[in-house]
Amino acid sequence: MAEKDQTLQAALQAACLRHGQREAFRFPERSLSFAELDDAAGRCAAGLAALGARPRERVAIMAPTCPELLVAHLGVQWLGGVRVPLNPGLTGDELAFLLRDAAPAAAIVGEPQSAAHGALLQSLGIRCVVIGAAAPPDPSFAELLSRAAPAPPVHQGRADEPALLFYTSGTTGRPKGALLSHRNVLSGVERLINAWRWSGDDRFLLALPLFHVHGLGVGVHGALLTGCLTIVRPRFRAAEDLACLARERCTLFMGVPAMYYDLVHLPDDQARDLGRMRLFISGSAALPITTFAAFEKRYGHRILERYGATETMLTISNPYDGERRPGSIGLPLPGVEVRVVDEAWRDVPNGTPGELLIRSESVFLGYHNLPEATAEAVRDGWFASGDIGLREPDGYLRILDRKKNLVISGGFNIYPAEVENVLRRHAGVRDAAVVGLPDERLGEVVAALVVPSESAATAEELLTFCGAHLARYKQPRRLHFAPDLPRNAMGKVDARAVRRLLAEEVSRQA
Ligand code: AMP
Repeated sequence: MAEKDQTLQAALQAACLRHGQREAFRFPERSLSFAELDDAAGRCAAGLAALGARPRERVAIMAPTCPELLVAHLGVQWLGGVRVPLNPGLTGDELAFLLRDAAPAAAIVGEPQSAAHGALLQSLGIRCVVIGAAAPPDPSFAELLSRAAPAPPVHQGRADEPALLFYTSGTTGRPKGALLSHRNVLSGVERLINAWRWSGDDRFLLALPLFHVHGLGVGVHGALLTGCLTIVRPRFRAAEDLACLARERCTLFMGVPAMYYDLVHLPDDQARDLGRMRLFISGSAALPITTFAAFEKRYGHRILERYGATETMLTISNPYDGERRPGSIGLPLPGVEVRVVDEAWRDVPNGTPGELLIRSESVFLGYHNLPEATAEAVRDGWFASGDIGLREPDGYLRILDRKKNLVISGGFNIYPAEVENVLRRHAGVRDAAVVGLPDERLGEVVAALVVPSESAATAEELLTFCGAHLARYKQPRRLHFAPDLPRNAMGKVDARAVRRLLAEEVSRQA
């Protein structure tokens, strides 16, 4: 475990030196040992310093999953820079917004990203290094590593200084930059290592994107600290990943609900032998009870669901040994306090819905450039999660929905997730997303976007089904079909896009 006041890089480097020649990350193209990773990170730091990068400067990193991405991540941190991980799939407009907000001094980008966004980066005066073929005057990453300068000493910063600037996913609004300190990240990862019995004996399959707190903040850092072997899959493909779990004798997997959904819907002839698997973890969005049950039936594992956010790291988890309760996010992890409160931040009794407040060493430093949003989100160390949930009498917590997704129709509160769960129980429904649409009389009405299954049902049949399982005010007034739901890179449904699609349907039919 890291020492109390260590920086993230000091802790990771100590771990790399401890684990030395052992294989650390197995990418499809090549493997890296802990020692190789540490050596390359030092050379990256030397190269960046020669380019003029300085401690505390922000450096954006935006590339598809590849070995260089990890080296760049550790190299920037070695120099004491603040890393800004960005989704390589961002469009020019999205990227322009984030780059103007983050204002990084430099960027390390993949070749496709350099080709697509080179002009934008240049116009913003951001120095670039390209993973792949260089785009002069920008050097290539390989050139950067091959410069002969000796690695500088690892920057000795303070543990409460910023280490990472992660952009939130922005499924309900504009993305915000969440600044996490070294201590935030380290304390957040270490409690998971303990809670999930993560060790150097694990063989971890990592198929999550490496620009988000889940895959990078937890996955990569946990793997380095424990010294386990990580098999990296740049893109999740259910059939291939399932085969990989068995072939590589994996023991640990972290996924989002959409991945588990795909795994339970594989054709019946796919392998079911999970070799030495010991733990499947799910988070980042609610795991439907139907998926939890289907997964247990098919693969014999009870998925461990956990909860967290970019601003807090992961804070609540079902227990490793105790009951893994479907539909629940479990109990606060050690070192985490959770309150469930009303609008005035008064605690509500068990069983009553309220907003979850989180207090812990891992609560972030604040939103970059947004002091008002920070003051609104954090008071007295308590982070207002924006999630409505409730505490059961035995302490287990449940999430009902995002506060911003709440639909208020004729004065009644409706949690879209409840309506979605009812729709998913119908055989004619593969998936569903529910939002509120404006209504002159009721304020809002419930509207559903449904992805039909093979045994398709009509809208009337689904509305009748909802009528049998939901109180009148919760029943959808509008229901439309779509081939898929709009989702972000973490598999979360984009509520704003759903609202837009449904509003378009409504106006088309008006
Ligand atoms: P992000 O900052 O992108 O990680 O998003 C954090 C948000 O994801 C939380 O505030 C929740 O709304 C949602 N979330 C994460 N884990 C869960 C979970 N297990 N169940 C329901 N929602 C979740």
